[in-house]
Amino acid sequence: MTVIIRNVVELRALVLGWKAAGEVVGVVPTMGALHDGHLSLARAAKAECERVIVTIFVNPKQFNNPDDLKKYPRTEEADAALLRTVGVDVIFAPLPDEVYPSGFATVVSVSGVAEPLEGALRPGHFDGVATVVSKLFGMTMADRAYFGQKDWQQLQVVKRLVRDLNIPVWVVGCETIREADGLAMSSRNARLDAVARAQAPALYAAMMRAAQAVRGGQAGALEACAAEVLAAGFDSVEYIELRDASTLGPAEGMERPLRLLAAAWLGGVRLIDNIPV
Ligand code: AMP
Repeated sequence: MTVIIRNVVELRALVLGWKAAGEVVGVVPTMGALHDGHLSLARAAKAECERVIVTIFVNPKQFNNPDDLKKYPRTEEADAALLRTVGVDVIFAPLPDEVYPSGFATVVSVSGVAEPLEGALRPGHFDGVATVVSKLFGMTMADRAYFGQKDWQQLQVVKRLVRDLNIPVWVVGCETIREADGLAMSSRNARLDAVARAQAPALYAAMMRAAQAVRGGQAGALEACAAEVLAAGFDSVEYIELRDASTLGPAEGMERPLRLLAAAWLGGVRLIDNIPV
């Protein structure tokens, strides 16, 4: 049975009982508006943990754009129905006051890996993520936490945070789930109109070609990728960059794993994607 819990005291009482029985607890942090990408994380957690908590919390602190926060889809009933089919134990869906009660004064800020790309373009975003993820780890006391590679930089930030603060949780990064045409699933895709939705897969297609060109040692692959994305109808490209896969610093040589990461605007929606090189 899947229960919905809104307060931390109740959640912790339940989790302490599980832990006393020696059960491994997994958590999947989400902001709701669930799709198959989220469900793949919940299924991975179910496969590896005796107990699974999915958190649904649209975290105001990680939105640098108030309009984006306002427009963020909220579909709790449908989300709960999907999570019941997966068989998660708990949906933890707290109200903002439960997470940030009055007087809340702490910010968890990761430097280095959190600074470039999304960190530079969305000021405060990763502080919000690191703060809420730290809290969710504390509130759920989970042994394992499941994050998507879709948000590659976020995954690296969370791994850094967990190492730096000795948080006793094992972070698992799960593969990006895509639509049949290659578009990475995202709650924001619902805001694309029909024309933009048809153009959206061009980002991943161009990135795949660029990754191949980089592997082949071709010069100008990233510039060509940006041009291709714009020619496909995107309004603007914020970045298409090749980076060290774990530090997100400059890509130096091909010895260490590299990642191609991109953010681009289409029909008023900001899409991000990343692939290995
Ligand atoms: P969000 O609700 O957007 O905060 O995402 C919650 C979690 O789901 C994050 O760890 C995301 O990386 C992950 N996620 C989102 N989209 C996908 C996807 N298409 N494939 C795999 N994981 C995803």
